[in-house]
Order: sequence, then C-alpha cells, then structure tokens
Amino acid sequence: MRSSGRNSNRNYRGAGNSRDDRRQPAGRPRPEERRYGQGGAPGGAPGGSGGSGGSGGGRGRQRPAPARSREYDAQIEERNRARHDKPPVRLPKTFGEQEGERLQKVLARAGLGSRRACEELIEQARVEVNGEIVTSQGRRVDAERDEIKVDGLTIAAQTHLFFALNKPAGVVSSMEDPEGRQCLGDYVQNRETRLFHVGRLDTETEGLILLTNHGELAHRLTHPRYGVTKTYLAAIQGPIPRDLGKRLKDGIRLEDGFARADHFRVVENTGKNYLVEVTLHEGRKHIVRRMLAEAGFPVDKLVRVKFGPIALGDQKSGWLRRMTNTEVGQLMREVGL
Ligand code: URA
Repeated sequence: MRSSGRNSNRNYRGAGNSRDDRRQPAGRPRPEERRYGQGGAPGGAPGGSGGSGGSGGGRGRQRPAPARSREYDAQIEERNRARHDKPPVRLPKTFGEQEGERLQKVLARAGLGSRRACEELIEQARVEVNGEIVTSQGRRVDAERDEIKVDGLTIAAQTHLFFALNKPAGVVSSMEDPEGRQCLGDYVQNRETRLFHVGRLDTETEGLILLTNHGELAHRLTHPRYGVTKTYLAAIQGPIPRDLGKRLKDGIRLEDGFARADHFRVVENTGKNYLVEVTLHEGRKHIVRRMLAEAGFPVDKLVRVKFGPIALGDQKSGWLRRMTNTEVGQLMREVGL
C-alpha cells in the first residue's frame, strides 16, 4: 500500500513531464515517458516514422526489428525494475521541489495540533527525528520513512490507520464471512485501505479488538515473542476457592500445554455471581474460557477490556473509534517500533 502510494506520486510526476514532452521533438522521449510493453518507443524508435516497415503492430504502431527490440526492452525492464526497488532518486534542490515535507506540517497532519502548535513542540525540544532531537524549524522529513517521535512516542504517519472496536457478541473475528454472518468487516466498510484485525476474539466474546493497516504492528502485537498482555472480565458462578488466582497463575494444564495467567482478581461478587478479571499474554484459542472451565468455572460471559496499553473504557458495544496518537505511540513502543 505504501509503495503504491509512492509509485503513484512518481507516476504523477511522470505524467507532468510527459505533458511537457508534447512540446519535445518527436522521437526523443524522456526516460520517465517509457512504459512497459510499448515496444520500441524509446530512443526515437522506429515505431512511427522510421519506416522499418511491414511488421504490422496494431493501432498503427509498428514493432521494431525483433532482435533489437527484445534486447532494448530487456534493458528497459531491468532499469525500471531497479528503479522501483531503489528509494526514489533524490534530485538536487535546484530541480524544483525540496525533499520531504516540513516537520511541523507532518506533525500537524498526524493530529498533534496546528502548525504553530507543532512549531512550539519543536522549539521545546520534544520532537525527535530518527533518534535525534530537532529544534530548528526548517527540518524536512519523509513521513513514511523517518521515525518521528513526540515526547518519546512514535507518531502515526497519515497513511496508517488505527482503530479500536468494541466487538459485540455474535460477530465473527474476520474481515469477511463467506456464510454471511456479521463480521468485523461490517464495521469498517468503505475504507480506502485494507485493514487487518489484530488477533481474534471468539464469536461469543465481546470487547476490544484493534484494526489497522500497519501490517508489522499487527503482526508484532499478536506474536508470542512480544508477549502483549490482554485483560478479560469473565462472569462465572461461585463460590470460588480463595486459591483460584494462585492456581491460574501457577498454570492450568490444558490439552495443548500449560497456560498461566499473569494476574487475577475478583472484581465483583453478588451472591453466586462473580465477575473476575484475568490478565494473560497468551494468544491461544479460547484460552480464558478453557482455563477457567478446567479450574471448574465455566465462563458465562467474556469481555476483553484491555489489549496491551489500550483500554476499552466506556466505548459502547458496536462502536469503532480512531485511536489517539498517544495510544498508537504506546502500542508501537510496546512492540519495539
Ligand atoms: N480467550 C477466550 O476464551 N476467548 C477469547 O475470545 C479470547 C481469549
């Protein structure tokens, strides 16, 4: 997605040039004008007037002599591919636009306030670019490549989106459902970019699920190596033994190995009804339900109330919200981004 954005910019610039090229003498196209699959056009190729005669390319465009064309095409292909794989060529400033964008503009776009307010952040030495505090106002950055932090937290480039959804019970944790059941995709329709859900909740489990188009973040947040903690509220029936928390923290043997809770506490108790909070960094399927069931307390209702540093708070069921910059920064920090 990123790269297509960048490519489209590049294409845009290319289009600008080819407009100028209409004024160029025929047969001297600029490198930017070259297109895949247009045999022979570059270098004043004989396609039009050169009169290599007779080989009859469609729409009046004639193919050049095959030997030369293939060789030439291969060269162009290779050069184009190399150009696509490389970072965009940085032209000297005298060629027109300056590199990157002004730092305060990028900060403002990321939601850190007006440009003036962002200039103040810079003045106050609160902004870092690639690990270096910036205090001059003239700094230009590449929002997609440079690592920009404010108060030590990475800011989200505008190309990345981060949402928190309070998933209702009954919604399938996938972006599409071939069986037509309600799924996460129903809550993020008409977004320009494809979003991933960060992990899953059982269909009957409610609560916080994150959605983003930042693939690496989504990957790390669910990778066991980063051990991101998740907190759940579970409704169970008591009475419960005093040592239930200890048993969960010591580890419950499940058919696919031991599972341990990091924290446990009773949040509420009315008669036989208990609401308990379980925090763990496990990501295995049905893990909370299985642990509690194995301990003798099948779960009546399960809600995820926290994912790493992100809390569900009082977000209503079925509501989607954009995460704040601070939250995104905290999430990134959680997984070393
Ligand atoms: N544990 C469960 O049992 N269900 C979930 O959806 C998440 C964790």
